[in-house]
Amino acid sequence: MAEFEVHLNTELATLRDNSLFRELRSVGSAPGAMIRIGDQDYLNFSSNDYLGLANHPVLKEAAQTAIEEFGAGAGSARLICGNQRIHVELEESIAAFKGVEAALVFNTGYAAALGAISSLLTKSDVLIIDKLVHACVVDAAKLTGCKLRIYRHNDLEDLERKLKWAREKHPSAHILIATESVFSMDGDIAPLLNIVELKERYGAWLMVDEAHATGLFGSHRRGIVEEFELSDRVEIQMATLGKAVGASGGAICGSRSLIDLLINKARPFIYSTAPPPAAVAAAKAGIQIIAGSEGETRRQRLWAMVDHLKNMFLAVGKPPGLVRAPIIPFICGESDAALSMSSKLFEQGIMVPAIRYPTVRRNEARLRFTITAEHGLEHLEQLQTGLTTKEEDADA
Ligand SMILES: *Cc1c(COP(=O)(O)O)cnc(C)c1O
Repeated sequence: MAEFEVHLNTELATLRDNSLFRELRSVGSAPGAMIRIGDQDYLNFSSNDYLGLANHPVLKEAAQTAIEEFGAGAGSARLICGNQRIHVELEESIAAFKGVEAALVFNTGYAAALGAISSLLTKSDVLIIDKLVHACVVDAAKLTGCKLRIYRHNDLEDLERKLKWAREKHPSAHILIATESVFSMDGDIAPLLNIVELKERYGAWLMVDEAHATGLFGSHRRGIVEEFELSDRVEIQMATLGKAVGASGGAICGSRSLIDLLINKARPFIYSTAPPPAAVAAAKAGIQIIAGSEGETRRQRLWAMVDHLKNMFLAVGKPPGLVRAPIIPFICGESDAALSMSSKLFEQGIMVPAIRYPTVRRNEARLRFTITAEHGLEHLEQLQTGLTTKEEDADA
């Protein structure tokens, strides 16, 4: 026991020495524009609840009704007796919303990526991923034991080099490209049309993670795949239900055969208790709101706030990217710089997380602002004050 504790404390000391130590904060409220931490309210720029649905009365009522009808827990995995009607209804709603044949829901987006990739590839296949894809895709490669190649972020020439390599060295392998559509740490967008053209030229498959795009882009708010009119050319679309949809869970969307294969092969689906009825019903209500006119109203409100914040950053000499996305990075440099800025804002009642290595590259530590439809101009004004009084406070 003593030797074990020494090991743990040595590891923790290394994290602290490198400004990489993380701690949990206990939040005593729903994830709105304001959140309660301890006995104080904070202006929140860290939630992925982009459309403000997580605390929406319709989602909460759907969750409560589902608990009454289906219970607090599903009782078993989907393939045993946990496949309640509400699960099937959610998947039908997602498939209709995304305009695909079928969808399969997982407990988390993380599990969805793991399940999809490990069902489609074997050790002799090749997975080619963007340098900045989410950890779930990287971990899926490890689970699968496939050959992994990483191309420079959004770099089509580098992607093509990797495709050529895969085709020459592994002529009979399946090749799967995985990218996000909107990237989670930079809020930039993948050149999906070019990626689709490349994967078609090299006979590869494509999986697009729409975690930060579902509900926000395209004429029906399906995501970037819709925005770029590529729905018929992407084999695997992934969505998360815990961001704009306001609930929790992940989904893989595509052909009926893809979903049937996942039901039979995806280990995180097969060996895990079905998602709880409350979360499933809330997700279904969230999808219905997004698909309807309220979804459009909320999206417009979100974009108005995003545009406002970007103009603000421009004014303080931190020009944001051109893309209109709900994730807006504010690059600080070293971990220390991002941490101290985040804690100074926190002292002023503003919650913006510092994102550090290993989530982003070492010298690109940043504040990561996320904007939601629940933010108003008064919140952005409070942030402006916080950003501009920061240095004086530090000197005082
Ligand atoms: C959040 C996220 C996931 C994981 O989804 P969870 O439902 O939170 O597990 C996957 N991919 C990306 C890009 C994400 O941002």
